[in-house]
Amino acid sequence: MSVLATPSPDNTRARLIVDLDAVSRNFKALQKLSPNAETSAVVKANAYGLGAGPVARRLMKEGARTFFVATVEEGAEVRKALGDAGPDIWVFSGYRAKDRPLYAKHRLGAVLNQPGETAQFRQNPVGPCAVHIDTGMARLGYGAGDISGLLTALQSLDVSLVMSHLACAEETASAQNIRQLERFTALTNALPDTRLSLANTGGVLLDERYHFDLTRPGIGLYGATADLNADNPFEPVVTLQAPILQLREIDAGDTVGYGASYVAQSPRLIATLSAGYADGLPRALFGSGCARINGLRAPIVGRVSMDLTMIDVTGLQQDIAQGAVPEFFGPDLYQAAALDGTLPYEILTGLGARAERIYKGAP
Ligand SMILES: *Cc1c(COP(=O)(O)O)cnc(C)c1O
Repeated sequence: MSVLATPSPDNTRARLIVDLDAVSRNFKALQKLSPNAETSAVVKANAYGLGAGPVARRLMKEGARTFFVATVEEGAEVRKALGDAGPDIWVFSGYRAKDRPLYAKHRLGAVLNQPGETAQFRQNPVGPCAVHIDTGMARLGYGAGDISGLLTALQSLDVSLVMSHLACAEETASAQNIRQLERFTALTNALPDTRLSLANTGGVLLDERYHFDLTRPGIGLYGATADLNADNPFEPVVTLQAPILQLREIDAGDTVGYGASYVAQSPRLIATLSAGYADGLPRALFGSGCARINGLRAPIVGRVSMDLTMIDVTGLQQDIAQGAVPEFFGPDLYQAAALDGTLPYEILTGLGARAERIYKGAP
């Protein structure tokens, strides 16, 4: 077992490369898929971990006029990035009177999810409001039984959007979609004439009956869908580059990593990378996951540790010597999500707590 010269001695920090040009192309693809509706941008959870400021700024440049966040704090951050004269920003989580100063200061739009919120909002309205009705998810929103009272409560309010959310949008054959579509149509018939919104990314991909006036895609912008088995019409946006900290030759019988769980069957060349599960690399990648070096597969060997991951780079020495840096995710995001038993959403939002974020394309 012997250590070779380190190929990139100066760079020890992982980098999360976010391709804003790809985000912009995904936005345009979503617009094309629903040409009769406005395409908004969901940038909650720091734009699914990719950086709400740069992502929202770029999408505003591409023509996005409506944004959604989960919390008022996220809304304040996106407003700072977009400027006071910028597009509308709606807050999903609901209205609390104590947050009124933040709504006013950052010109955020309240989404009213239940009678108590509407009552608080009516006492001292701040701008136009949106109403969320539940059509089959039992998560947020007015229930069918609350609708009659809603009509009275909304009198004298400036309601600019009525929305609901699909539970099974990625399952194209699910009867739940039709059920929710029918409920949404029936319930909104009773409400004042206003813009309607039902579709997230999966809803955009269903068909035009789900598009209404405004679509609310998130994950599609960031290069994925919720269905790991379907064709993905979106472009990958995120790559985690992990520099090589050490390079070593090991012999047959040598072990790698915690638990000595990998045993080399033959002499191998092993690279230790500066990224681990604290950077969002799922531990479940051990066994079948890989990094890419110049697009070539380099299998993960040994368990992923908190800060470090070892990969088998046998045969890739020349690429490494020429400066190629190992990369995770990119086109392998779906595979990583499948191995981790999760979805691209969870992988993306878990990335980049420590990595340096680098943006490709102007924000
Ligand atoms: C997160 C969210 C979206 C975006 O969903 P994607 O599946 O990422 O497109 C849309 N609407 C609501 C209410 C959400 O919470």
